Amino acid sequence: MSNQNILEVKNLTKHFKVGHRQIVHAVDDVSFTIPRGKTLGIVGESGCGKSSCARTVIRMYDPTKGQIILDGVDITNLKQKELKPYRKKMQMIFQDPYASLNARMTVRDIIAEPLLAHKIVKKKEDANEFVYPMLERVGLTKEHANRYAHEFSGGQRQRVGIARALILHPELIICDEPISALDVSIQAQVINLLKEFQEEKGGAYLFIAHDLSMVRYVSDEVGVMYLGQMVELCEADEIYRSPLHPYTRGLLGSIPIANPKLAKAKEKSSIKGDIPSPINPPDGCRFHTRCPYAKPECAKVAPQMKDVGGGHMVACHLY
Ligand code: SF4
Repeated sequence: MSNQNILEVKNLTKHFKVGHRQIVHAVDDVSFTIPRGKTLGIVGESGCGKSSCARTVIRMYDPTKGQIILDGVDITNLKQKELKPYRKKMQMIFQDPYASLNARMTVRDIIAEPLLAHKIVKKKEDANEFVYPMLERVGLTKEHANRYAHEFSGGQRQRVGIARALILHPELIICDEPISALDVSIQAQVINLLKEFQEEKGGAYLFIAHDLSMVRYVSDEVGVMYLGQMVELCEADEIYRSPLHPYTRGLLGSIPIANPKLAKAKEKSSIKGDIPSPINPPDGCRFHTRCPYAKPECAKVAPQMKDVGGGHMVACHLY
């Protein structure tokens, strides 16, 4: 029987050592699940750990602590060789289509590579029956197959990246800011393409973005990360209708506050100051150095994620 959740991430932590003694707290104690065929959007400023989280989930980085369960199998500590069968289920679309495609390979070879690696086909020539329809599916043509990535625009390259990620029909696609490097005019096309694929094939997405507007139309649930931690997580509609965490509200700018306790407080249209260094994150609530509602307790006691009703999770002493 297949699992209801394609991905379960429990207390995931990823620290990087820098120099002799310093530790970057890239991801700290992050938990979430993604049901089959659904999309979780994760947002936050650059440096909040969202990309490190995605890369740890796909095991580009080894986790420091926590668990990654893919389709019911704990893949947290599998060695790279042991991971191979699970890689087929989980693919990644990268932010920068200029850097992520091999400049020396033709588009056909780029898209065919996963088919050969997973022995779906034995020879390159046999891959054409999969590659050509996929090229058409992402809005390119058979004629593009013999060209090199540098001959394409940014939007076309990202289509090639999507074709490569989706050629194996993975059940989980990790999209690491897949539209951030693209012209605004192209962003909607790429989002629509990803949505169409999901409707056709039923894959799930972990969709990383730096602002909430980018994930609005793709996400079933949205998580907000700040300085390595998840600070709010709930259904997508709910987060736009009733954001609770002061950081989320700051990200959303002028969205009115639903909570009457806070309604009188002056809303900030943007968050002041820079994100502190993840090498020495602030004690207590990591957002207290920038939070307009911080109280003395916030600098001392770290708030835990809690369900404030209907599965709306938030980590803040105001609730
Ligand atoms: Fe602000 Fe305190 Fe809530 Fe942190 S816990 S977000 S500092 S009110």
